Amino acid sequence: MRKVLKSLCAFSFYCVFCFHGKAQEYFDYQATTPCDPRVISAMAPYWTKEFGNPHAHHAFGERAAAALLKARQQIADILGGKTRDWIFTSGATEANALAIKGVMLAAPYGKKHLITCVTEHKSVLDTCRFLAQQGCKVTVLPVDREGHLSLTLLKKAIRPETMLVSIMAANNEIGVIHPLSQIAKICHDRGVLLHTDATQAIGQIPFSISLTHADLVSFSGHKIYCPKGIGALYVAPHVVLTPLFHGGGQERGLRAGTVPVPLCVGLAKALEIAEEKRSTESQRLSLLQKAFLQRLRTLKGWCLNGSLKERLPNNLNISIEGVDSEDLLAALSEFALSTGSACNSDIHFSHVLEALDPEGILPPATLRISFGRYTTEVSVHRLADRLIETVEKLRHIKPFGGKRACKTKKGMIAH
Ligand SMILES: *Cc1c(COP(=O)(O)O)cnc(C)c1O
Repeated sequence: MRKVLKSLCAFSFYCVFCFHGKAQEYFDYQATTPCDPRVISAMAPYWTKEFGNPHAHHAFGERAAAALLKARQQIADILGGKTRDWIFTSGATEANALAIKGVMLAAPYGKKHLITCVTEHKSVLDTCRFLAQQGCKVTVLPVDREGHLSLTLLKKAIRPETMLVSIMAANNEIGVIHPLSQIAKICHDRGVLLHTDATQAIGQIPFSISLTHADLVSFSGHKIYCPKGIGALYVAPHVVLTPLFHGGGQERGLRAGTVPVPLCVGLAKALEIAEEKRSTESQRLSLLQKAFLQRLRTLKGWCLNGSLKERLPNNLNISIEGVDSEDLLAALSEFALSTGSACNSDIHFSHVLEALDPEGILPPATLRISFGRYTTEVSVHRLADRLIETVEKLRHIKPFGGKRACKTKKGMIAH
């Protein structure tokens, strides 16, 4: 107990005073999260004393194997499915690749069509692009201005050769939540498998295999206060996958390589903590989200990207008129924020914003603000106030009316 308290104290010190070396306040929890000290404590013995290879047949190996089994059971208890259905991976990128390539490589001849959505994470879209080069047929569904997918279009896109649909549970840039159980019903009525990248949903909104009925589910540790380099994929018993790597037959032969026991123990602990506090924490973040939007009402010329109603409680994504995004970021350097732009030529180009804005009318200065476990009401108000003040100042000294080369896409050059 004393040990935990000590590490908690050390941790809050770290959080407030020295994030990133510079005194910056962190608003980028959707990019990654710091480790929870309780996760570090849970992992601790498995780095040193309990270092055994879980696949070895001696006492060291058996103790490591027992810890691994417990971690897998905890994940199944929280997210659903059977213990053996959960495969540990290096993160969500690998889990997405294993799900999508794995299913499509194993798909019989005549079932080589797959459907995804334009706002998916790059690890999904680029995997689909690779498969298209290998001869698979890929349909990429559009979204509307709010980031919603049309279920009618999804139904229309499914054809006899469709093997898989991959649709994320919630978006990492605009926080938009997709109606997964309805999507699963559409897929299953037509005999199609559903994969979902649930990386941003898990720990934020109610999520389980039995709620969503997805056949494959990916998630990552470092978005839920666990270290980077660990994630998992749920593979329903009826799904046939071709593995990405071959070798020692670990993880039911689906993911060869010695399993990183400490990280797996950490992942289960992180998930347990996230679930335990999820409903109160989501309510708290949702209030912060509302407070921020309320405060921003005094500012003119901005819009919220993505639906407000079907949205994660920890995400805001706003586009602001009349300021240059580089100037804005530089002026707000006391905050760690993420930017995005629908401009093809912009270094912060976002395929998600482009999908919401086919005509290129969004102003190029866009901020993604994401809250997390250590975000306080005071810091949210400070960010809102500093943002308003900064935008007004920048507009006054250096009015920015242009959209730069925002419309160079599709071969058109606009002015
Ligand atoms: C962060 C993220 C990923 C990538 O996860 P890694 O574990 O870093 O590979 C994939 N999908 C979504 C939606 C994410 O937010």
